[in-house]
Amino acid sequence: MPLVGGNASSPFPPSWRFSLGAFQERTRPLVSFFPCSECGQRAVGKLAAIYANWFAEDDKRQAYRMRLCVTCLTRLMEQLRKHSSGDSGLLTTCPLCGEDSSQNLSGVYLTIYPPKQPEREYALTMCSSCAPLLQAPFLERGDKLGDRSVGAAAPTNATSAEWAQVPW
Ligand SMILES: [Zn+2]
Ligand SMILES: [Zn+2]
Repeated sequence: MPLVGGNASSPFPPSWRFSLGAFQERTRPLVSFFPCSECGQRAVGKLAAIYANWFAEDDKRQAYRMRLCVTCLTRLMEQLRKHSSGDSGLLTTCPLCGEDSSQNLSGVYLTIYPPKQPEREYALTMCSSCAPLLQAPFLERGDKLGDRSVGAAAPTNATSAEWAQVPW
């Protein structure tokens, strides 16, 4: 009588073999400990730390951190730059929708620490309907930080062509 879930090549049920594989994956030393917050990709020294903070409706400061691979960070920056050309002359234009956000401003501050690149800071004049779209991935997949953690990442000063191509 055959074992339930087993097969001819292994005496263990499939779920056992899966657990063993997952354990080996976790202990392999070639990948970074932290995966990209967006796509889950792991790559040694290849994740940028993104700190975001904003003030919630109760005036409490919210601070979150995500780690992004170069692909996901590029996608984010492209979204934020869509309407940042600034030829409208308006100082407060929402970078996502391009509308005047002076009447419904919901500012989000980003500090980005890319590997081997100088840090970059952005004060985004989001409108109140677009700000939640930017905040959502931080709320869902980011690490919530205390007030003093923002800016704690170590700066680096070497250069890297790959990260230099992000549309800053
Ligand atoms: Zn990614
Ligand atoms: Zn907007």
